[in-house]
Amino acid sequence: MYSSSVSESRYVGRFAPSPTGLLHMGSLMAAVASFLEARIRGGQWLLRIEDLDPPREFAGAANSFLQTLSRFGLCWDGEPVWQSSRSQRYEEVLAILLEQGLAYPCRCTRKMLQQDGLIGVDGMRYSGRCRAAGLLHEGRVAYRLRVPDAVCVVHDRVQGNITQNLQADVGDFVLKRADQYWAYQLAVVVDDADTGVTHIVRGADLLDSTPRQRYLQQILGLPQPEYLHIPVIANERGEKLSKQTLAPALRSGAEVTQLWQALYLLWQSPPERLRSGSLEQLWEWALQSWDVRKIPAKRSVAVTLDEEFQYKFQ
Ligand code: GLU
Repeated sequence: MYSSSVSESRYVGRFAPSPTGLLHMGSLMAAVASFLEARIRGGQWLLRIEDLDPPREFAGAANSFLQTLSRFGLCWDGEPVWQSSRSQRYEEVLAILLEQGLAYPCRCTRKMLQQDGLIGVDGMRYSGRCRAAGLLHEGRVAYRLRVPDAVCVVHDRVQGNITQNLQADVGDFVLKRADQYWAYQLAVVVDDADTGVTHIVRGADLLDSTPRQRYLQQILGLPQPEYLHIPVIANERGEKLSKQTLAPALRSGAEVTQLWQALYLLWQSPPERLRSGSLEQLWEWALQSWDVRKIPAKRSVAVTLDEEFQYKFQ
């Protein structure tokens, strides 16, 4: 319905949900922001299902994503990419990194990491125990990427500059897990590059992952997309609204009010009268009025949710 007519545009955006639960208001905000950014530039908007973690998958979620997005008029270009079908490509990339001595096998268990007790910007920081161990590629080993002791700065259009020292803040990170599932960091970089993504718009909970992804792009010689991280919404306890904190799923039949809410939570101040109008009218307004400069440079914003499923800033 709202697809782009300029197919040769250089802007390629995407939405990449993980099927660990149903889409909720936070997912809708990321979908709407990435969609509007792409469409106002006559760009493409791709859909990728990040189904890399079958044990954490919620049955039926992936298929429901396609239906839910279509109901909102969020029409993607081309066929969705399913990460579960991309293992061979990830394997090729891992082989390159191993050959260059940039990746190595690791046999550390969660318990060992806990014993090391190192904390980084995003959970546990790896001590580098297996870095120089020269382990064989036997059995169920994980693979980690060797990261430099150097400052890495990534610019974000909303959040400003993100500065990390990968070694001090994260440590050598996992590319393939010991249970043989692929890690998000490797898959996201390879898939964005292979599908020609130029602009990444997503929730600020992934801001701390961005320097890892930029580093992978650099060593693999891949193009470096631009980033824009929107503040995530959090409850009174400061917990990110997510599938894990049991955020209510988007409801069928209430698309206009939910899209209105997503635009409100993205600081776009949609007019009250459009709350009860049609989806077409609301999209038309959004496409004309979308202004990313209204979004504050915050990682999260506290909201309340009432019995009528209305979100309000606290
Ligand atoms: N799959 C991730 C999620 O659902 C998003 C990944 C990304 O946009 O890079 O939170």
